[in-house]
Amino acid sequence: MAATATPEALEGRDPVPAGAVLPGAPERRRGGTSGRVLVLNASYEPINVCTVRRATVLFLKQRAEILEEGGWRLHAESLTIPRPVVIRLVTYVRIPRDAHSRKITRRAIFARDRWTCQYCGRERGKLTVDHVIPRSKGGSSAWDNIVTSCAPCNRRKGDRLPRQAEMHPLTHPSPPGPTIFVHVAASAIPPVWEQYLPLAA
Ligand SMILES: [Zn+2]
Repeated sequence: MAATATPEALEGRDPVPAGAVLPGAPERRRGGTSGRVLVLNASYEPINVCTVRRATVLFLKQRAEILEEGGWRLHAESLTIPRPVVIRLVTYVRIPRDAHSRKITRRAIFARDRWTCQYCGRERGKLTVDHVIPRSKGGSSAWDNIVTSCAPCNRRKGDRLPRQAEMHPLTHPSPPGPTIFVHVAASAIPPVWEQYLPLAA
């Protein structure tokens, strides 16, 4: 029987085995992927991104197998564990189809737009979110009306409609696909993850 869990539930806090030496790498650093592990369902469908620590616990509890490992190993008393890069859950976990696309956050918008300003195409600089149709002109706060914009473009567009400002988003904004969480977790996708991701993620 398949268990049902939200992706968040997979991030639970299990005790790490006594004596285990696990890396305390900065996991939340933007663009940093060194501490992140891609989690696949038993069906090989990508369902989450977790920390090395969490992946190691799942592996030690025999709840996951390691599909891809990194170049270094974790040492815990008598055992040596490959550093997980991609793991696969042993038991299928049912994930609601729209679990990842419901919440609109700044980070999810940036991830959907691949951290690229949708007006000038620049990838660097301070990113903001812009309402394509300004809220003051009746624009909604929905996926199809919010885009990533660099701060200078956002200032230039101001409170104007796209045609008034002659600034149109490079791509038509829409709700993200089901693997958006991968891009939210890691702005740079490790090459070894790519073979497990859908081609048009
Ligand atoms: Zn820009």
